[in-house]
Amino acid sequence: MQSSDIRATQDSVLFESLKQDPFVSSILKKISQHEQPLGIRRQFLGTAVRLTKNMSPKLIEMVQHCKKQLDINIETELYVFAAPQYNAMCIKPENGRLMIAFTSSILKDFSLPELQFVLGHEFGHYKFGHHDIPVSYIMKAKPDPRLVLTLFTWSRYAEISADRAGALCCGDFEATANAMFKLSAGISNDLVRFHLEDFISQVEDMKTAMEKDIRQRMHRDWFSTHPFSPLRVQALQKAFESVLLESEGISKAQLEIDIEPFMNVMQQSYLDSQTDVAELMRRVLFAGSFKVALATGTFNQKEQHVFEKLLGEGRYGEQLDQARILSDLDERIEDLNQHGTLVQKSQVLRDLALIAVADNKVTKKERHALRDIGQALQIPVDIIEVVIQRRPMLD
Ligand SMILES: [Zn+2]
Repeated sequence: MQSSDIRATQDSVLFESLKQDPFVSSILKKISQHEQPLGIRRQFLGTAVRLTKNMSPKLIEMVQHCKKQLDINIETELYVFAAPQYNAMCIKPENGRLMIAFTSSILKDFSLPELQFVLGHEFGHYKFGHHDIPVSYIMKAKPDPRLVLTLFTWSRYAEISADRAGALCCGDFEATANAMFKLSAGISNDLVRFHLEDFISQVEDMKTAMEKDIRQRMHRDWFSTHPFSPLRVQALQKAFESVLLESEGISKAQLEIDIEPFMNVMQQSYLDSQTDVAELMRRVLFAGSFKVALATGTFNQKEQHVFEKLLGEGRYGEQLDQARILSDLDERIEDLNQHGTLVQKSQVLRDLALIAVADNKVTKKERHALRDIGQALQIPVDIIEVVIQRRPMLD
């Protein structure tokens, strides 16, 4: 098994199709024409501490180990800066130098194997070229809603690939799960102790709950735009049972099939599905995103064109008839209320929220429009709030 084989298949597939997307490729072209180093190294040198071999021989040893495991050959610098959160980040290389930065808290509270996982995860983002699709940069250029959702889905799979790279470097499932738990809970001390079975059972509980009731707090996280770590732990557990990490394990193809049920909730398969309910969900999504966009005020011609395409070409004539689309929305919501489940409706609302946060800020009016739609969809208020508060992040 080559280290490049651990990349999640859907990460590669979506990555390639995103690079082919005309909107994305026009942005990438613009970036390559005007590219200047972002000056992040200068910033780090001024505000963080560069960890040398003399300062932390163990960390430098871990870097060597990761590079060997992942067949990476690039000069790497490690930095640490004071911060209370557990976090690490990998910065796109500047002048042939890769930079990985840690918060002081993560170095303080994570064991060496846990850090090995975190470091491997960050190297994974570099290895698989995830920086080549700069999500937040593309979001700023206001892509159409469908592209926003694809970017979101891809970024989730990119995390799965990076997790596998971390797992390959760490080699110990307990430690990877432990690291994920600490990252997710944000604490690590005698009061809260990690328990693998219990943490994993959170996912099982959620799956059961999906078919029944999603009112309890944990269950709402299915629809949050934030990455969900028990889910990632389960995807990792499967990876440890596969040939990627265990020579006698299940095939990679089987692994990818096995993780689909947990990934499905995070992606928008209804966009392409042929079922009647999927069609109803799409209708609410498109008319709903029109309503949310309208809440901020005006439309330029380009935006009009995007929505016209989404709402059905020719359906609204030369000028979009706003009143008609909004009254259509009520009808579409009514249909979805009759035929869709609470889970499906929450998924659509989550995606509307994702589209709204695409430009990195949700205005009060947009939030208000999202709440209106959530209420019309008869989604419980507490779920609406969770769904629309979170922001998407590629971590
Ligand atoms: Zn990541």
